[in-house]
Amino acid sequence: MEEMETLSSKINKSINNLRGKPKIAYFSMEIGIDENIPSYSGGLGILAGDTIKSCADLNVPVVGVTLLSENGYFYQKIDEHGNQIELPIQFAVQNFLQLLPSTTTVNIDDREIKIRAWLYQVKGVSGFIVPVFFLDTNIDENSDWDRTLTKYLYGGDNRYRLAQEIVLGIGGVKILDALGYTTIDKYHMNEGHAALGTLKLYDIYNDVERVREQCVFTTHTPVAAGHDQFDMSYAKPMIGELLPDFILGDVTFDNKLNMTRLALFFSHYVNGVAKKHGEVSRLMFPGYSIDSITNGVHSTTWVSEPFQRLFDKTMPGWHSDPYILRSAFSIEKNEVWNAHIEAKKNLINFVNERYNVGMTYDDFTIGFARRQTAYKRPDLLISDPNRLMHIADKVGPIQIIYSGKAHPKDGSGKDSIKKIYNAMKSISGKVKITYIHNYDMKIGKMMTSGVDLWLNTPRRPREASGTSGMKAAHNGIPQFSTLDGWWLEGCIENITGWAIGPEKTQEEESDDKIDRYDLYDKLENWIIPKFYNDRDNWIRTMRSCIAINASFFNTNRMIQQYVLNAYFR
Ligand SMILES: *Cc1c(COP(=O)(O)O)cnc(C)c1O
Repeated sequence: MEEMETLSSKINKSINNLRGKPKIAYFSMEIGIDENIPSYSGGLGILAGDTIKSCADLNVPVVGVTLLSENGYFYQKIDEHGNQIELPIQFAVQNFLQLLPSTTTVNIDDREIKIRAWLYQVKGVSGFIVPVFFLDTNIDENSDWDRTLTKYLYGGDNRYRLAQEIVLGIGGVKILDALGYTTIDKYHMNEGHAALGTLKLYDIYNDVERVREQCVFTTHTPVAAGHDQFDMSYAKPMIGELLPDFILGDVTFDNKLNMTRLALFFSHYVNGVAKKHGEVSRLMFPGYSIDSITNGVHSTTWVSEPFQRLFDKTMPGWHSDPYILRSAFSIEKNEVWNAHIEAKKNLINFVNERYNVGMTYDDFTIGFARRQTAYKRPDLLISDPNRLMHIADKVGPIQIIYSGKAHPKDGSGKDSIKKIYNAMKSISGKVKITYIHNYDMKIGKMMTSGVDLWLNTPRRPREASGTSGMKAAHNGIPQFSTLDGWWLEGCIENITGWAIGPEKTQEEESDDKIDRYDLYDKLENWIIPKFYNDRDNWIRTMRSCIAINASFFNTNRMIQQYVLNAYFR
């Protein structure tokens, strides 16, 4: 007991030190901040975590707010036929987060729900601390259903989701107040999930312009159907009097409350997450001024151990200032290659031990890992197994490592996993394929640092940005991808990687046939021959990835743009 009191008084003390200082509250439905905390599903959450880490590195006075999601997104198993099995993640919350004494409440359908918060502290390179609050409704006083609201990320039905968004948005604004953060003057909504927070702010200020001055909104979804919307028949009673009538014309569509429209209405600054995505968003939401800030990744988090050692030796200072990675051009080629092989061994040993696939350190290895869903075309690479075997026969052996979860309700995403499993059975010999279960930050890091080529095949223009290719670039690994999202800005053909399909200047949507042809053609005639027969130039390409792309596509550069263009302008 005594020990516990010391701990909680320590926490209070550290909060007291921070209290009153932070200026910006960063809201995100998911935050992937630590490999041990499963409160994320993918790109959106990892971006949020990397953003907060860069704020800590750059002393930007931010606090993070998210949901606890104590059972995570889900734990993925895959049976021998390629069927995905979803299990709740068992997460020992108290091992990694500290429970805080302050609580708050929100009303849903006139029912009061109590919310508490857990604390995680992110320490930047110079010791600056950014707190992240994980909201939790699993409290005795709440009803059984209400207690489940912070259990499953993206689980349940629309009402469950709306209730979660009430907890995140409205509960988030209120808990900051309860925790004593009185100097927040910017609320940054990372995607529309937290948009209901604007209603609480309007409730406080009763002044639309005043709320707008304080709100910043980042949209991540380039397709209309992807935006959260809730039928007014239940949204109105669930949210209650906080939803004012005069905004309904702007924020509802087909009698549905649209979270993107709500966030747009109340924000003075809105951005997409890559240049192209900014353009697409402006077309989707005419009448709003929408800027773009291209995503990044947190350099220190995503550079593998061997490259960290090499960078520390050759480019000291890169942790706090990743622009320094520009000078990677002058690193000795053999040092780059040795660091790469060490990272590659780490991955190959892992897959051999787990899946008994007998992969080698020398063979050309392609990585593909991301959410398994139709527009990302996870099976494009294995769609013509004979062609793949022919290329391996003619040019050199190929190894392919896959990973990724499909959303439990995404049937076609699940089918893609089955197709890959079928290909694993039908392709053998010179092409080895394996699928790593339960893609998460740890596996993401191992893969984006351990393969030779990072493959990405989204159908244009569906990929808002994409970030795993930026992680690969930080480890000197070139990307091979359709020109969509960040790759439109990052691809210099044969220097930082290669493009699949139509040129940058062509606007049309992807055609699977054209892209498949180009994918195999470039692998056969450009990429794999360069790897096996022109190693010197291959390593030059690796260096360019670091010097040209890692030095720019990082969250330190990104957050500096948010500070200048969004937070303090
Ligand atoms: C980086 C990362 C993502 C996002 O990758 P995309 O290329 O944007 O799809 C998703 N999941 C995990 C575990 C990651 O590490």
